[in-house]
Amino acid sequence: MIRISTLASSSKGNATVISGGGTHLLVDAGISATRIRRGLEECGLCVRQLSGLLFTHEHTDHTCGLGVLSKKDNLHIYCTRYLGQDLRPTAPSATFSYIEPGSRVQIGAFQVTPFQVSHDATDPVGYLFECDGVKLGYITDTGRIMRGMDNLMQGVHALYLESNYDHGMLYNSGRPMHLIERIESNFGHLSNEQAGEFVRQIAHPDLQHIILAHISQDCNTPDKARCAMQQTLDELCLNTNLHCAPAAYRLPWINVTT
Ligand SMILES: [Zn+2]
Ligand SMILES: [Zn+2]
Repeated sequence: MIRISTLASSSKGNATVISGGGTHLLVDAGISATRIRRGLEECGLCVRQLSGLLFTHEHTDHTCGLGVLSKKDNLHIYCTRYLGQDLRPTAPSATFSYIEPGSRVQIGAFQVTPFQVSHDATDPVGYLFECDGVKLGYITDTGRIMRGMDNLMQGVHALYLESNYDHGMLYNSGRPMHLIERIESNFGHLSNEQAGEFVRQIAHPDLQHIILAHISQDCNTPDKARCAMQQTLDELCLNTNLHCAPAAYRLPWINVTT
């Protein structure tokens, strides 16, 4: 079984706990160390129990808690080489293991495959987590679905998927045009519509859970994101459980099995 709980998910901060076979991982540390410790406690865990801290990219909403977090505890960080160069000064006492998109690594009970996403960051990645035959896909902060993602995500039992903005709300948000263009560019974020299109590509009856993530607080609502995805699932006749990762508080454990 794999368990997933999000501690925060939005452009103001992201952190997710993933557990399986006695191994506990944290993906991103984009909220304060205090909130990460509290969130882990709510999960029944502490920082020392983490086998790895994995990063998707360097934006502060994914990394800002790292400095303080690394002062008290020894962290084992997994990230790409380029990102590591950015993060090392922030966490000088941490152990770094470099990962490469497309190359699977073993972290405790997990096989973890990082893969390239399309975002305005140095070397952004998503992840496929596998443990005891259970598969969980993790895709956030990507302006488009890239070739090969559908293959990699075939057969996932759960999918953590960005559903960042609603087109109408984005255009009526009052944001400057250059920001709107950045968000909807190939190097920005996935819209509700794009998230639905991707689910169509990989849908199968054993897809038990979809966690809609990084939902914009200005250009989307959890209701809109959920309705859009539910419509897709209804059209596909799938009974997949839909969850919206809350922006600023914890989404309790979701258990994923085969
Ligand atoms: Zn982000
Ligand atoms: Zn980002």
